[in-house]
Amino acid sequence: MNEINVNLRIEKGLAEVVEVPMPHATGDGFVVVEQAFAGICTEQKTYAKGYYESHEDPLHMGHEGCGTIVEVGPGVSGLHEGDRVIVHIGWACGHCWVCRNGLTSTNCENLRVGPDMESHNGAPPGSGGAGFNRYRLAPAINVQKIPDSLDFRYARAANCLLGSTYSIVRDFDVGPQTSAMVAGVGFIGHAAIANLKHRGATVIALGRNPDRLEIAKRLGVDAVVNPDDPDWLDQVKELTPEGRGVNIAYECSGHPDYQRKALDSLARFGQLILMGYQLETGWTLDLNVHDDILVPARRIAGMEDLMFRHRSELLELLQDPAMQARLDIMIAGDAPLEDGAGVFEQILTRKHGKFFFRFDQIAAA
Ligand SMILES: [Zn+2]
Ligand SMILES: [Zn+2]
Repeated sequence: MNEINVNLRIEKGLAEVVEVPMPHATGDGFVVVEQAFAGICTEQKTYAKGYYESHEDPLHMGHEGCGTIVEVGPGVSGLHEGDRVIVHIGWACGHCWVCRNGLTSTNCENLRVGPDMESHNGAPPGSGGAGFNRYRLAPAINVQKIPDSLDFRYARAANCLLGSTYSIVRDFDVGPQTSAMVAGVGFIGHAAIANLKHRGATVIALGRNPDRLEIAKRLGVDAVVNPDDPDWLDQVKELTPEGRGVNIAYECSGHPDYQRKALDSLARFGQLILMGYQLETGWTLDLNVHDDILVPARRIAGMEDLMFRHRSELLELLQDPAMQARLDIMIAGDAPLEDGAGVFEQILTRKHGKFFFRFDQIAAA
């Protein structure tokens, strides 16, 4: 193991690989993981607009990943050097109400992020607290061992792809009786479709982007409706039993136009699941509580992370050949960290599915 680590530093118009020190798991409850892959989630927005999410800064970009444990710190049991693992997002406390009930890591009441991990382990800023580090610090509570038979090319879908859409489909009574809509068909929309089809739902994709809709069709959506069609709502209703509307709609774009259309597509007692957001735009959804919610008896929910208690189920799903075939369709590809700018430019064309960085080709200087 080399003592040199790398980080992809991202600012507006800039994505450069910088050398940073190797982190060490000196803090209680931590391991160091040599990453195989790290998913690209919203980081192209930083490259394009200089926009940072709350947990980000130029040296703390990327939050997804999987790889191999290279160091185990004090207070860790059940994990060993050489274990192949998924790194789930954030640093959950393990003792708050959310954690105690096996809910989601990123909704932990005491959630901590990359810079907290670095200071806990005495590591300099940028040296291991982010997904776009080759060597990263990971809290044992958010590390999940995977079997040797599971290729990292599928394990990497455990974060913001199959994982982030798993629990919100799993826990909302989705089955063959469900008529569902996925509004907005980026990579989260694709993953929602995959999870819905896995459970046998009938799925309508609401979208405009021909390239991403093509992926949705290959994933098995039952119908595609263009929200610009004047009769789009009639088309949706015709596709549902008795023209009632859909039982559940997953809004994956964060755009108020799609949010409104997803809401309007619901049957009585239908559920709107909000998964997309575009904080940098300041967009909001206007609601009339009486007309939109009370009279039609609808529910609105939102969640974007995998529940702790579903981790072993997800691991089984990642090994399912039918789901692996869907992953092959929705994953656009991977590239070394040095190609950061080029990959972000490709993502910004909005023609593709999910991209990953891979770390095998980085030559430590
Ligand atoms: Zn917690
Ligand atoms: Zn993500």
